[in-house]
Amino acid sequence: MASLLLKDIYKVYPSGVTAVTDFTLDIEDKEFIVFVGPSGCGKSTTLRMIAGLEEISDGELYIDGKLVNNVQPKDRDIAMVFQNYALYPHMTVYDNMAFGLKLRKKPKAEIDEKVKEAARILGLEPYLTRKPKALSGGQRQRVALGRAIVREPKVFLLDEPLSNLDAKLRAQMRTEITKLHHRLATTFIYVTHDQVEAMTMGTRIVVMKDGYIQQVDAPQMLYDYPANLFVAGFIGTPQMNFFDAVLIKDADGKVYVEFEGRKVLLPKAKSDKIINPEEYLNTGKPVVFGVRPEDLHDEESFINNSKDTVIDVRVDVVEKLGAETLLYCVFNNKEDEDEQDGKVKSLVENVTQLIAKVDSRTTTQRDQNINLAIDIMHSHLFDKETELTILDGEGTKAYVPVKELERRAKEAEELALHPELAEKKAKKAKKNK
Ligand code: ADP
Repeated sequence: MASLLLKDIYKVYPSGVTAVTDFTLDIEDKEFIVFVGPSGCGKSTTLRMIAGLEEISDGELYIDGKLVNNVQPKDRDIAMVFQNYALYPHMTVYDNMAFGLKLRKKPKAEIDEKVKEAARILGLEPYLTRKPKALSGGQRQRVALGRAIVREPKVFLLDEPLSNLDAKLRAQMRTEITKLHHRLATTFIYVTHDQVEAMTMGTRIVVMKDGYIQQVDAPQMLYDYPANLFVAGFIGTPQMNFFDAVLIKDADGKVYVEFEGRKVLLPKAKSDKIINPEEYLNTGKPVVFGVRPEDLHDEESFINNSKDTVIDVRVDVVEKLGAETLLYCVFNNKEDEDEQDGKVKSLVENVTQLIAKVDSRTTTQRDQNINLAIDIMHSHLFDKETELTILDGEGTKAYVPVKELERRAKEAEELALHPELAEKKAKKAKKNK
């Protein structure tokens, strides 16, 4: 059992790469913290700094209130489970789990008790005499967990432990690890690039990008109140729909979101939440309107009850997933038709502009022109330039480090001065896609 405090932590590799910037996080005892983000965002580096496998370039790391920057990994009371579980192939399951304790010269009886207890918790009792090659992937991963459990560490660090397993086994191991966390009542820190793992396992999620924390919150809070465009797009599948928009206020004081030649009403309860309305209303300042696929409805009853938020689209592809159906839609705009000159548009140009996740019993078909109603109270608004949410008062504990904003401002300034860099960056982004 342990609490951790990471304070203004930086990691600069000898090569000059700054992998982690200004990482500040308070982790309470017994939390299940997940670091999530795209590959290369600094998750593993942060975890390895906690483990002591990587030197901390700047900042302070406390475990249970004790500064441990210079404490050896073996003295940090931490156990780490890796993606590549690297069991000793010539040893039995029992010996694999006992090995670390033997090295520590623990008494035989104590080792035996701990190994058996771990085997019981993990359902490995029938396999104790087997060698790793006679185990399934899931069983091997459990042995790797067992090796960590027998040490009774204060903190468990897990680095993508499930990514070598197939989808079904991954789902099963996910629940097993969650159960293990409840059972051991110990602090867990888990690294993954998989947002489903993050959402299902974490008590709190730390979303990272380019070495910076983007937001820290409980899974549902992150999902409902993303603090910026990146978090909004990263958490949730299919990803949130984004539309370039502006906000209009009419003579009656009603506020509308205008996008793709369409206009939907923001109810007062929602428009009252806009931070600095004078900056956005009737100023033409670009915003991004975000709507999750499940907040778009094709049922008639919903459409009839939401007349102010209905948009018309053409269905491009219908994907029946069994439990739900995805509608890939495009906006049928007059100008686009004119541009076509009666020719068939190329497939590449014909990009999906919107995805709706609807009931699997929908009768909507491909090529149909349909209406979709937006569940507007669950929609999102972001400043196009800063990419931060412009909605407030929704109870989020959103945390966006000031340094990240400063970095973005500096980057924008540089790009304005050197337009050729912008081109390079756009090319690189396209390539990474
Ligand atoms: P993630 O775990 O999120 O995929 P990492 O923490 O592994 O990301 O890496 C973060 C950044 O640091 C990446 O740009 C990566 O290339 C770089 N990096 C990782 N390890 C090293 C290293 N040993 N030397 C130099 N750069 C590294």
